[in-house]
Amino acid sequence: MEHAPSATGKVYLVGAGPGDPDLLTLRAARLIMQAGLIVHDGLVSEDILAMAGPKARLVSVAKRRSRHTMPQDAINDLLVAEARAGKQVVRLKGGDPFIFGRGGEEAEACRAAGVPVEVVPGITSALGASAAAQIPLTHRANASMVSFVAGQCKGLTEQDWSGLAGKGRTLVIYMGLASAPQIAEKLIADGLSPAMPVAMIENATRKAMRVLRAPIAGLAELVVRERVKSPALIVVGEVAGEAEPDLRALALELAQ
Ligand code: SAH
Repeated sequence: MEHAPSATGKVYLVGAGPGDPDLLTLRAARLIMQAGLIVHDGLVSEDILAMAGPKARLVSVAKRRSRHTMPQDAINDLLVAEARAGKQVVRLKGGDPFIFGRGGEEAEACRAAGVPVEVVPGITSALGASAAAQIPLTHRANASMVSFVAGQCKGLTEQDWSGLAGKGRTLVIYMGLASAPQIAEKLIADGLSPAMPVAMIENATRKAMRVLRAPIAGLAELVVRERVKSPALIVVGEVAGEAEPDLRALALELAQ
């Protein structure tokens, strides 16, 4: 990485994409291979971490639902301290740093501390997963808008998702696995047809990827039956049923 010699280093907020190393940007790949210090999340795949050089120091600040190994403030402080000590810090995040990645908070912390920061975009999991599952998030026939929402249990009831799911639109839910039953209930209560197709994409672009489909009324049961594991995305909309004629038939049956 080219940088003028200076006392202060720099923080690179780098998107690692959904898992497959081939989906890294060239800039991300170069930064990872040249990095002296990589501070990464739990979502960054092993294959990508394996691209780091033998001398690189890898620090995991893995966040799991309800078990934060490092609070966000501590992560911010770590980035700032290492950069102030002159390091080029590669802060590696799953997907894109600015989509449910707290990249905004880390960039702010760097700016507030006078530490130079650069953001390198990544393929957010909604885009990686939909490509891998061949589910177009927009389609001239049946989806002219798409929304990304965060579906953690905390605060779910206060969130206003009205109008985000339904005919002609696609809703992608990140972090929605644990609260899938409440999500289905909430959407149906807001007026969504119980027959609306849903796809769950588990481990998108990784070796163990699975694409599971059901009508929204069957989402909770699907998660239990298939023992869906994190990371998983939920795609709600007509596009999620596209490739599955059986599901369309079931959806029509349910709608009657
Ligand atoms: N910044 C990340 C999102 C972080 S939030 C991005 O842009 O993708 C974490 C959520 O992302 C997970 O709960 C899951 O819903 C989703 N996710 C991340 N990687 C995934 C993958 N490989 N397959 C399916 N979902 C994934």
